[in-house]
Amino acid sequence: MDLVIQPGMTFYQISNIFNIPLQLIILSNPYKNPNTLRVGEVVNIPGHFLEKYTIQPGDTLWRISQEHQTSLEQIYAINDVDLYQLRIGDTIFIPKRIEEDILTFNELYTFDRFEEDLFKLVTTYPYITLKEIGQSVMNKPIYEVVIGNGDKHVHVNGSFHANESITTSVIMRFLHDYLLSLSANQPIRGVDMKQFFNEITLSLVPMVNPDGVDLLNKGLPENEYYRELVVDINKGRTNFNNWKANIRGVDLNNQYPANWEIEKNRKRQQPSPRDYPGRAPLTEPEAIAMAELVGREDFDRVLALHTQGKVIYWGYEGLEPENAQKIVNEYSRVSGYTPIRYVDSHAGFKDWFIQDYRKPGYTVELGRGTNPLPFSHFNKIYEETLGIFLTN
Ligand SMILES: [Zn+2]
Repeated sequence: MDLVIQPGMTFYQISNIFNIPLQLIILSNPYKNPNTLRVGEVVNIPGHFLEKYTIQPGDTLWRISQEHQTSLEQIYAINDVDLYQLRIGDTIFIPKRIEEDILTFNELYTFDRFEEDLFKLVTTYPYITLKEIGQSVMNKPIYEVVIGNGDKHVHVNGSFHANESITTSVIMRFLHDYLLSLSANQPIRGVDMKQFFNEITLSLVPMVNPDGVDLLNKGLPENEYYRELVVDINKGRTNFNNWKANIRGVDLNNQYPANWEIEKNRKRQQPSPRDYPGRAPLTEPEAIAMAELVGREDFDRVLALHTQGKVIYWGYEGLEPENAQKIVNEYSRVSGYTPIRYVDSHAGFKDWFIQDYRKPGYTVELGRGTNPLPFSHFNKIYEETLGIFLTN
């Protein structure tokens, strides 16, 4: 919500009045200098919204504050009017702390709904950063959300594969619950999220393959060229449940320069719903955006969420660092998923990350069943995955 600075107001004072960590207020107002706030300047207060209230006969501000579970100080801070001159019928604003869900999770995401939810979160909690790290073949933004202020940099992505988009919902739900936990001052499974915030800078790319996800969850593209292309690649079939690739039939998780040639030689030789590595490594904009992100940022650890199988792949050609095993054992303990060190597979995002950076990289296969997993599995999968997110 917006707050108009009144004479003498400081971020420190606002932090006390609204019981929000000072740091979150400062991070929510990146272009303001906390030492030179001007009267009349508008600042962002995270995790709150404003409710309009019309003064009734017999009202006192004290009673209004009691009935709305707020404080007189908060009402004074928000309403830049002479509150003693209020008359019946006048309107004031009551600040409300968000303590309930602001997103609903009841079906798989289309790109539009995903974007709408992201905007809702970043407006409500302006201390998170939303960046566009690239665009899909059909020019949809690929979004990265960054939350936290710690020295440890952890990256998590989802929906590399089109028919695995329940992973986007899992990441969004974690982000939502994390923000709500900071706002409401409630730990998650005993983890103090304020402390988590100060220890970990978390990078999330919840939807790497938005065109592919829309093909599954929205339907055939409106664009005629791509509509004909995908039907052609799918051999005339209009059921795309088997589709993992991007919109032009390249499997994004076979695009990375980690023994790419091996996959090139033994996998599909032309655009396909799955398993076509492309004509060269890193030809697809979605795969390039992820490689560039990793190249720019100094991630200590990456996790790529896929479905299904309840397993965690964690090694690549003996190049994984020593601490990778300790971490995966903890992931396994909290999720019940089985760690698998080596598998005969190359050219994946985590393979390339381990090979090039010699840091821990994981492919986590969430849930069990036939892809696309139905949304009815969501709550169970989220509960299984939550501990992995919370592992420091
Ligand atoms: Zn996958």
